[in-house]
Amino acid sequence: MIFNVIGMGLAGAWTSYWLMKRGCIVHAFDVYNSESSTRIAAGLITPITGQRVKPSWKFAELFAESLIAYRDVEQQVLMQFGEKVELIRTVELLRIFKNVEQREYYEKRAAGNELSGIQHQFVESGFHNGISFPFGGFSTNDAAVVNLPLFLESIERLIVANGGHISRTECFANTEASLVASRTASAAEIPTVTCTGYKILQDERWNWLPVETSKGEILDAMIGNSMDSEAPGAALVNVLNAGTWIVPMPNGEIRIGATNDWDDVSEVITDKARVTLQTDAESMLGSKVSVLRQRAAIRPSTGLKRPIAGRHPDFKDQYVCTGFGAKGTLQGPWVCNQLIRHIFDATPLNTEIDAQQWWPENKG
Ligand SMILES: Cc1cc2nc3c(=O)[nH]c(=O)nc-3n(C[C@H](O)[C@H](O)[C@H](O)COP(=O)(O)OP(=O)(O)OC[C@H]3O[C@@H](n4cnc5c(N)ncnc54)[C@H](O)[C@@H]3O)c2cc1C
Repeated sequence: MIFNVIGMGLAGAWTSYWLMKRGCIVHAFDVYNSESSTRIAAGLITPITGQRVKPSWKFAELFAESLIAYRDVEQQVLMQFGEKVELIRTVELLRIFKNVEQREYYEKRAAGNELSGIQHQFVESGFHNGISFPFGGFSTNDAAVVNLPLFLESIERLIVANGGHISRTECFANTEASLVASRTASAAEIPTVTCTGYKILQDERWNWLPVETSKGEILDAMIGNSMDSEAPGAALVNVLNAGTWIVPMPNGEIRIGATNDWDDVSEVITDKARVTLQTDAESMLGSKVSVLRQRAAIRPSTGLKRPIAGRHPDFKDQYVCTGFGAKGTLQGPWVCNQLIRHIFDATPLNTEIDAQQWWPENKG
């Protein structure tokens, strides 16, 4: 069976992967954009986030599935191409509380069992390995970093190796996908999954979904400068998170992110974001950082902070997967698999993610 998948970010890549696991051939369409949300994201998976120190939605279940799923792709790459790739690495994350309220949120949630299923250890106020915790914090090993460019490259290679192809063309569910695919298959109507990130808002079949844009900016940087190897934090091994996070990268650089702007829909970098991220990182590390690169992209978010997946109520064989917000790395494997199980096994979608709840006629 042939499927069209429009958009090859996290949503399209995971949809394609699960389709291939079902024996399908994938015709993928992706306007290559080196600055897409997936291509510039840090690939961080964190269990507890935000000012209110809140556990991520369904974290324990989704994290367990993510680890298995990314490692399954690593295994497929090894089996099909004889190459060993590391797509996911687990890391220790240190959360630094910025004020006493955050500490109180943490204590309240821990006492109320809201953090059950998440491994975490309280860190007292003070200095730990050169990093200041003025109000304390916690450490957790339930965190990971995914190499997203390598993940996308791996999925695209698997698509081609399994009889599919990638078209670097702009495409919409009601037009080009069906036309192009119908040239290569006998059926005129090919099932299509639209995974175009925030560009879904420009798609007349899907623009009723409650997707909102949230712009994010991110920095690649070095701690100190090349002459300053003794700078505190120069040998950073943990991910740090104090609202702004710092991820040590295998090449010795650090990645600092990410801003969140719900009003600005331009994909251009700003001085304001650079200064905010750089200042936050320097304050966390107690050391200067040198910015090497800055990038910006638009996340496909939703006000309710839930992903969206499902079948179009009116058009046969038209499906959607989007709305990952800042959690695509964690949610991608699970949400896309939910959709594929819904399509092939008629398993009901989790009601919180089902696209059809937003169809104007169903909203009541
Ligand atoms: C600065 C920043 C940092 C982030 N850090 C993290 C992080 O650490 N961890 C995390 O989990 N998440 C992070 N995110 C969020 C994460 O990037 C998103 O959740 C996720 O990438 C969204 O994936 P997507 O596939 O839905 O959309 P996208 O990544 O936007 O992919 C959509 C794809 O569709 C293509 N496309 C669009 N329209 C068409 C069309 N008409 N025809 C063909 N192709 C089309 C686009 O070119 C793109 O390749 C970050 C985001 C940003 C901006």
